[in-house]
Amino acid sequence: MNEDKLKEILTCKSIDPAVRLDFPMLAVKSHGQPFAYLNNAATSLKPKPVLEAMARYYQEYGSSVFRGVDSIAYKATQAFEATRYKVKDFIGAKQAESIVFTSGATAGLNLVCHSFAAARLQPGDELVVGATEHHANYVPWQQLCKQKGARLVLAPNNERGEVTPELLESVMTDKTRLVAVCHMSNVMGAVNDLKALAAIAHRHGAYLVADGAQGIVHERPEVADWDVDFYAFSAHKIYGPTGVGVLYGKYDLLESMPPMIYGGEMIDVVDVADTTFRDPPYRFEGGTPPIAEVIGLGAALDYINSLGYCCMQQKTLQLCKRAVRGLQQNPNVEIYNPDNYFSGIVSFNVKGVHPHDAASIYDREGIQVRAGHHCAQPAMRWLRQNATLRASFAFYNNEEEADRLVTATKKAGDFLDVFF
Ligand code: PLP
Repeated sequence: MNEDKLKEILTCKSIDPAVRLDFPMLAVKSHGQPFAYLNNAATSLKPKPVLEAMARYYQEYGSSVFRGVDSIAYKATQAFEATRYKVKDFIGAKQAESIVFTSGATAGLNLVCHSFAAARLQPGDELVVGATEHHANYVPWQQLCKQKGARLVLAPNNERGEVTPELLESVMTDKTRLVAVCHMSNVMGAVNDLKALAAIAHRHGAYLVADGAQGIVHERPEVADWDVDFYAFSAHKIYGPTGVGVLYGKYDLLESMPPMIYGGEMIDVVDVADTTFRDPPYRFEGGTPPIAEVIGLGAALDYINSLGYCCMQQKTLQLCKRAVRGLQQNPNVEIYNPDNYFSGIVSFNVKGVHPHDAASIYDREGIQVRAGHHCAQPAMRWLRQNATLRASFAFYNNEEEADRLVTATKKAGDFLDVFF
């Protein structure tokens, strides 16, 4: 993150604490205590405007899209397509036709892998993947390389967990066809400079695919300016519903790709022996889409815009910093990413306590964190840990919740003293 951006975040207006009232889940009790939801990197909570937009669709104009000629079906189609334009503006794409609705980041990355990369990868080619990627941005490429006789090359990380331009450059060769990296790591919270990485990939004649599942939450993407070829994300991590996501692709690349799912609404003419397909993005959206969810994603983007992206970044950063500072006072705690406040993620362990045991202690305190390998076993190997704890903050968390995490961590350490 450059200095100017950081200054902008630190000086923008503060989030109104009343924002918590927008999130019904924050009123839930867990083990008789106020629920402290610190697992936002897994999935975010949903604000009322998103829930209401989805309920309105089901209650007032719950028709299928594209198929009807009546006014209610037309209204549904319009609301559905409006989200495509909202996404385009939100991520800085040039055209709405570059926005493909998928079921999530995983589906988007698999679509690029099987429809785009599979047709271009030859035996002996190289495909570069970040060394600490989530499985969704690792396993598809690994398996494709196996199928094609290509070589999977790992782009190393620096100590913060970033794939820096220098580190990417160090593994690029004239055989590299594609680079797949995350915008932000779900374990380390490290943010990659996608613009610089895309420039390197392109200089070597390769494409850049970005996994934006975490990044879109903490640094608003500028896909056209950054010149990434593909960018995938899920709605559920940015306060939208589950079951829907987006694959952004440069339009000429999407045009070159065959569909993966055949069926209704993705065809042009179906003849006895052959079929022609619609132009992107519809060619990739066969079958009845997740209509309420797409509308919910649109409402989530409206909600973010109404609060101000920058204000959300500021609050998340402050809370993460507070939790890290508190945890650093505890000699039993080992933090793996102490400087990546900006991501809202703290990855840590309590010495001698298995993360699952620690997570049970947090649970009894009404706190939910994530414990395990975080669907990123390559990252665990890199950290030389079997598992970690991960607390992840969102703008609707508060200082009290950050402090409760610190206190409960002390209890987890005391648990160790009881047994040894
Ligand atoms: N990539 C990263 C970095 C993630 O954190 C996740 C989810 O945790 C994914 C990809 C996969 O997202 P989804 O399961 O919504 O497809």
